[in-house]
Amino acid sequence: MWFGGCKALMEQSMKNDGQTATSRLNKEQLLYDIQELSHLFRESASIETLLNRAVEMVAQRTQSAVCSIYLYNPDKQELTLRATKGLNPESVGRVHLRLGQGLTGLALQKMRPICESDASRHPSYQFFPGIFEEQYNAFLAVPIARGVSKMGVLVLQREASQCYDEASITALETVASQLANIIENAQFLLGIHEPPSDRVRSVPDSLKFVRGRVAAEGFAYAPALVLDKHKSLSSVLHQGSEKVYTLEDFRNAVAHTADQLEKLQEQVEHKLSDAASLIFAAHLMILKDQDFIGKITRRIASGVNASVAIAEVATDYMRSFLASDNAYTREKANDIEDVAVRLVNNLISRGEEMNVHKDHVLITRGLFPSDLLKLSSEGAAAIVLVGGGVTSHISILARSLALPMVIMDAFELLDVPDGTPVLVDAEIGNIFVDPDDHVLEKFWIQRRARLTLADQKRLMKPVTQTADGTRVLLLANINLLSDLKIARELNCDGIGLYRTEFPFIIRATFPTEAEQYVIYRKLVDSMPGKPVTLRTLDAGGDKILSYYHDLKEQNPAMGMRSIRFSLQNKPVFAEQLRAILRAGAGADLHIMFPMISSLDEFREASDVVHECLDQLAKQGLEHHGKPKLGMMVELPSVADLIDDFAREVDFFSIGTNDLIQFLLAVDRTNESVADFYLPHHPAVLRMLNRIARAVLAHGRELSICGDMAHQTPYIPFLLGIGIRAFSVDPIYLLRTQQTILATSLPDAEAFAQSLLSLSRVRDIEELLKSRTAAD
Ligand code: PEP
Ligand code: MG
Repeated sequence: MWFGGCKALMEQSMKNDGQTATSRLNKEQLLYDIQELSHLFRESASIETLLNRAVEMVAQRTQSAVCSIYLYNPDKQELTLRATKGLNPESVGRVHLRLGQGLTGLALQKMRPICESDASRHPSYQFFPGIFEEQYNAFLAVPIARGVSKMGVLVLQREASQCYDEASITALETVASQLANIIENAQFLLGIHEPPSDRVRSVPDSLKFVRGRVAAEGFAYAPALVLDKHKSLSSVLHQGSEKVYTLEDFRNAVAHTADQLEKLQEQVEHKLSDAASLIFAAHLMILKDQDFIGKITRRIASGVNASVAIAEVATDYMRSFLASDNAYTREKANDIEDVAVRLVNNLISRGEEMNVHKDHVLITRGLFPSDLLKLSSEGAAAIVLVGGGVTSHISILARSLALPMVIMDAFELLDVPDGTPVLVDAEIGNIFVDPDDHVLEKFWIQRRARLTLADQKRLMKPVTQTADGTRVLLLANINLLSDLKIARELNCDGIGLYRTEFPFIIRATFPTEAEQYVIYRKLVDSMPGKPVTLRTLDAGGDKILSYYHDLKEQNPAMGMRSIRFSLQNKPVFAEQLRAILRAGAGADLHIMFPMISSLDEFREASDVVHECLDQLAKQGLEHHGKPKLGMMVELPSVADLIDDFAREVDFFSIGTNDLIQFLLAVDRTNESVADFYLPHHPAVLRMLNRIARAVLAHGRELSICGDMAHQTPYIPFLLGIGIRAFSVDPIYLLRTQQTILATSLPDAEAFAQSLLSLSRVRDIEELLKSRTAAD
């Protein structure tokens, strides 16, 4: 019985001197003081100060030798000593108790006071060496709670002869409930100011499970690493400062770092021949930069420890990069930081392979395509992008790199402590921070069920057609040449979109005609006898060419981009067209212009093609003499002019990613407006219908290559309005085929008509939902 031991002693004590501990407790004063304390806290005293004052005060008013506050972490189901009067102050933050462990843990588990005259005799008593509580055997623990939610335990101790009585318990319960109010308000501060501990800081409940969106499918379970410009360098400075490293150590570290970077560069070039050319070049250049290396060397020569010298010089460089107006230059601070981190790591543990990103879930606020390539080649397990957009080009690239990526708008994720295990379920777009065994078990089952390429190959039917036998072309969107492997294995009907911009984005200057020729030739050769569509450079927007764009544009999505850029830089455009025409010799070549807004633009672009054809003929170079010339339909202006276009354009591909962005005025790269990005908006559906009808009436080729093409709920609609060619990322080929195979055309047409008759988003959603449920 929790109160038994004490009661007996109390009765004894009353008999003895007629005076109990109760009479010595100044209860009113205690309550008054605690109220005062909560008032003080509201006026922003720190939570540590508050807890320390509380224990002082309660100890004094209850005439206890010891008063301690333990706070409860529900995620870890653990109590931690957070303030004490009377125990060894060194034990604050270091004594941890599981729920139910010791008398203190028991009080919280049972949610009731525990009072003992001789605590050490209780079966649940737990001895902690070094906290000096041995002499205080009278013990009273009262849970601190709000309703059913456990917050901590308030503990009093004193010598056995002075055990606590019922009045003490009531008084202490009142104090505990006051403290619960204060602690509840201070949860945030408590999280931040956790006392020193070897353990990983806890993750708030709201972040245990975060729902987001899929950018690139896959799974990962790995420790988190938040990419933060200032964090790694400061931790580096901290790491290397306790031992003295010399100039010779530094020179060895430089040589070793250069070696590592060259190897990484070779590996990535082997894997990504089209896009990898310069991923680590900037790093190598920094290592060879006399100014950077010279500054560090001079500091070391003047007596500064090598690790500190590296961190200091790198910090100076980063500071000046970060002060730039140019976002791209600001981002380059990352390269300096990467190099500095590598250098110090090599300095400290020379000879060890050092790759901080490998096998980590990287949480970040923003990335450039080149960063993504770098992280992928360094073996990152997954990316959690806070605040990006699903149809942004970073997401598209992540899919090609088979790097699972989810998009979240919970900015608190940037505070997840490094090393916290994170489960990324990029199949449905969720993450679990520090998942429990139950979640993990489900994850392993799902992961085992994931189809391999061999499974997909086995499940693919040789011909894609609707349930009632209408042939549909299933084409691939190619972003990197590495996508070709799946596209070929799954025997797609050709390439509906090759985004030529990725090789341009990664390089330090425009790739030459010869370099482009090699890449395009590989593409064309991979699809013998099948149509291959190369889209001309779609740079700008979120696909920045660092060597060209000055990034002063307020609105890059609507700025000097895409075909506008090509027409303004005709020599660059012509070089690309010549490379395409030469690589396309003998192929079923389609050349497609992006972001066409007017017939004039289409004609101007076609004229450049014809000039190139003349030139190549004159030069006697082998090339394709009569490519089909087509355009993306991704601007609303095209819809009104569609009949005029269809009279002279050979083929069209609908780019719903941009079309939706521009029709609904929703930035496709901005997660905070993602709820407004509605492929099923009635205006989008009607515009798609109008475009499809007109193009088909003119007997022109029509395909769809935006993300909508692989989204299962929309495929029957797209079939129903007459679309017979779907171009999707290779990972979606099987899924898209299966949906097409299961759809009958008359049914799809009736479904499309029903959707087109609706004018409210909500009604369209209902209809889409009811069809999905029926499937
Ligand atoms: C589109 O806009 O739908 C499209 C396919 O092009 P991108 O995603 O490259 O802008
Ligand atoms: Mg587009």
